[in-house]
Amino acid sequence: MGRYFVYVILGGGVAAGYAALEFTKKGVSNGELCIISDELVAPYERPALSKGFLLPQAPARLPVFHTCVGANEERLTPNWYTEHGIELILGTRVISADTRRKRLLTATGETISYKFLIIATGARVLKLEEIGINGSNAENVCYLRDLADATKLVNIMRMCNGGNAIVIGGGYIGMECAASLVMNKINVTMVFPGSYCMGRLLTPKIARYYEDFYELKGVNIIKGTNLSSLVFNSEGKVTGANLKDGRYLHVDMVVVGIGAHPNTSLFEGQLTFEKGGIKVNSQMQSSNTSVYAVGDIASFPIKLFGDTRRLEHVDAARRTAKQAVCAIMEPKITSDFDYLPFFYSRVFSLSWQFYGDNVGEVVHFGDFSGTKFGAYWVNNRRLVGCFLEGGGNEDYVAIAKVIRLKPVVLDFGELEREGLNFVVAVSRKPPVLPPVGGGGGMKKPVNLWYAASGIVVAASVAAFGYWYAGK
Ligand SMILES: Cc1cc2nc3c(=O)[nH]c(=O)nc-3n(C[C@H](O)[C@H](O)[C@H](O)COP(=O)(O)OP(=O)(O)OC[C@H]3O[C@@H](n4cnc5c(N)ncnc54)[C@H](O)[C@@H]3O)c2cc1C
Repeated sequence: MGRYFVYVILGGGVAAGYAALEFTKKGVSNGELCIISDELVAPYERPALSKGFLLPQAPARLPVFHTCVGANEERLTPNWYTEHGIELILGTRVISADTRRKRLLTATGETISYKFLIIATGARVLKLEEIGINGSNAENVCYLRDLADATKLVNIMRMCNGGNAIVIGGGYIGMECAASLVMNKINVTMVFPGSYCMGRLLTPKIARYYEDFYELKGVNIIKGTNLSSLVFNSEGKVTGANLKDGRYLHVDMVVVGIGAHPNTSLFEGQLTFEKGGIKVNSQMQSSNTSVYAVGDIASFPIKLFGDTRRLEHVDAARRTAKQAVCAIMEPKITSDFDYLPFFYSRVFSLSWQFYGDNVGEVVHFGDFSGTKFGAYWVNNRRLVGCFLEGGGNEDYVAIAKVIRLKPVVLDFGELEREGLNFVVAVSRKPPVLPPVGGGGGMKKPVNLWYAASGIVVAASVAAFGYWYAGK
C-alpha cells in the first residue's frame, strides 16, 4: 500500500502547523501536501500546555490554541486543513525512513513517498529510567510534552488538591509546572541538582529573584541534590521520594521535567548531524537536497554569531518552518536565514524575554526589588544578549533590534546605570535609507542594501558608543 505527495511534513507539532500555513501562502495545490503525526490532533501551540492549559479557572482547550495563533496568524483547525486540500494523517507513527528512495513507512504498514520532505519530529521527554530511577509508568508520575501528558497532569492535579507534589528539575518545564501546581492549590517541592534554577540561561542574581518569588508563593526549593528513588504503595502509586542528600518527602504526585531529546533516530546514518541535531544550511536543507529539517531537531547556522545551534524554542520552530517552505517553493529568491535567538516564559504574574546570546560579561540593570529588571551580556566589547523581566512590547522590540546590531560597549558602568535606556536610545537612531536605483532580480538589491546599511549602522553604533562613553 503506498501513496505519493509532493510535500510531506513528518511531525505534527508547532513547526508543522507554521509550515502548512506558509505552504498555502506560497500557493500549494490541493492534494500536494500531507502532515503525518503520531498525535491525534491537528498541530497546536505546544507552549500552551504548561501555561493556559493548566490554569485552575477557564483553562485553554483545543481548538483555541491550534497553530498559528501564537504568532497572531490564522488558527488552523482540522477544517482549515480540509478546506486547503492538505491531508492530515493523524495518530500515525512513522517507523522508518529511506531518504535515498524518498519514502517513509508508517506503523500501519503504509508507504508514503515524497518529492520534498520536511522533518519536524521535535523532541521527546527524558524519562526517569534514563537517569537510573524507576517509576515513569506509575499513575501519579507526570511528564509534559504533548496533549496526552497535559491531560494526565490536569487529571492528577484535580485528584491531589491540597496534597503534595514533587517537581523534579529546575528548567523551563519544572518552573512552569511548579507555578501551575501552586495555582491549583497543591503544595510544591522543587528539587534540582544545580545551585540555581534555569542555570543554562539565567544568571545567579536573576535566578535568585525567581526563586524568592516562588518561595513567597509557597514553593519549597531544594537545590544541589537530586531524586534518588521513588517509593510506591501496594497499588503501584508513588507515595514518597528519597533524595540523594538523604531527605525523604511524602508525595501525592510527581512531575518530571529533566530535559528532552531530539527525535532524530529515523535519520541516523542517512543525514549529516551536528550538535545533536540534523545539520541544515541556511535554507534549512539537510545533507540530502530533498530533505529539510526544522524546529527542535534542526541544527542551523546562526549568522549573527557565526556558529551552528539547535534550539528547543517555539520561535525558532515557527521561523525555521517558514524558511524551509520559502526555500522549497521559492528557491531563487529566498535569502539566507538570519535568526536572532529568542526565548520567553510566563509564570504567575511574571513574564520575561531573552534575545541573543548569554556569553561574555554580565551587566545587570533595573530594579531587582521591583518588577522590571534584566541583564546584558557583553562579549568582545559587543552587546550580544539581553534578558528583560517585566518589559513592555516596545522594550522587547528595541532589544531585538539592538542585539541584532551588536553595538560596541565601552563603559560597563554606564551600561548598568542607563539600563534599558541604552537599547531604547540605540534603537531610536534614525534608520539608514537604502540606496536608490540598482536592479536585476530581487535577491541582489536586498543583499546590497543590507551590506550598505550594515556598514553605516555599524559606524553609527560605534559613534554612539563613543558618545555614550563620554557622557
Ligand atoms: C510544555 C511545553 C512548554 C513549552 N513552552 C515554551 C515556551 O514558553 N517558550 C518557548 O520558546 N518554547 C517552549 N516550548 C518548546 C516548544 O514548544 C518547542 O520548541 C516546539 O514545540 C518545537 O516544535 P517542533 O515542531 O520542532 O516539535 P513539536 O512541537 O514537539 O512537534 C513534533 C511532532 O512530531 C511528532 N512526531 C515525532 N516523531 C514522529 C514519528 N516518528 N511519526 C509521526 N510523528 C512524530 C510528535 O508527536 C509531535 O507532534 C515548550 C515545550 C513544551 C513541551
